[in-house]
Amino acid sequence: MTGLYGRTVLVTGGAGFVGSHLVDALAEDNNVRILDDLSTGRRGQVPSGVRFREADILDTAALDAAMDGVDVVFHLAAAVSVAESIAMPDRYHAVNATGTLAVLEAARRQDARVVVASSAAVYGAPETVPVTEAEPTTPSSPYGVSKLAADHYARVYADTYGLETVTLRYFNIYGPRQRAGADGGVVATFADRARHGKPLVIEGDGEQTRDFVHVSDVVQANLLAATTDATGRAYNIGTGETTTVGELAALISDYADRRVEITYTDPRPGDIRHSSADISLARDVLGYEPTVALDEGLAALFGATAMEQ
Ligand code: NAD
Repeated sequence: MTGLYGRTVLVTGGAGFVGSHLVDALAEDNNVRILDDLSTGRRGQVPSGVRFREADILDTAALDAAMDGVDVVFHLAAAVSVAESIAMPDRYHAVNATGTLAVLEAARRQDARVVVASSAAVYGAPETVPVTEAEPTTPSSPYGVSKLAADHYARVYADTYGLETVTLRYFNIYGPRQRAGADGGVVATFADRARHGKPLVIEGDGEQTRDFVHVSDVVQANLLAATTDATGRAYNIGTGETTTVGELAALISDYADRRVEITYTDPRPGDIRHSSADISLARDVLGYEPTVALDEGLAALFGATAMEQ
């Protein structure tokens, strides 16, 4: 049940972690195309029967061809590493800001709706938590700035050109297919280390908080965004629940089939202390309701049944 039927849709970044789950949800009932340069995505994550074009979103000819006849674009393609963005801010600006502008411009020619992937990184270190969409946007990395540019372009294209755009500000997404390692998600990294019996290394004191949202709930948010009348604005997508990184490590070590050591190292430079979503707007306006609690999502990730409390 997707709520979206018989449409021609383009998923940029559809071979990536989030994009591939969205493609899975859309493919049965819609004509789905993917544009992805496979910089971090994987061809093997694309289901058969889906039209796949390996290209950069900055390749205007490829983008225009992929956009031809499209009703809805889910724009997820992005360069996604905060650390890498510090090393190459120009590349992040090109892919995330200029690339989103290119997607919006191509969509405008088709009058296609665009659902834009934004990020909690647009808030930087928020003054108050949980953050509402009205919180000042003061990103603390080139990645965050580039996502904020994309976020603003989507709103301005709605206001200026009447294009139907919806922006989703994701908090910490986790689930199957997420990459582990330096540039991957903390859940995937901890899960991978736990499976291999390696210590879970917490950067800082472990008291930093995050809002971990399961990828299936992010898919749900995208499907709601594809049909809502409330376009031209940004919505926080998380769970409204917060977990410390220390609690996450403890939960994951419980799911490992052996005792896993938890160790501490220096905090990551520029790491945000508290990140927590107020999801009232998405709940009230889009009808978004997170369905997967963290312990259930982790249990599924480890192929186990939820722990009995
Ligand atoms: P991902 O790296 O798995 O997916 C990004 C996809 O975009 C990859 O398949 C990659 O190959 C593709 N891509 C990158 N640059 C491209 C380019 N120039 N042209 C074409 N394709 C390109 O990451 P993800 O976690 O699935 O992220 C999806 C979106 O969600 C991104 O826009 C990201 O900024 C946003 N987001 C993710 C999270 C999270 O916790 N995972 C949080 C906030 C926002």
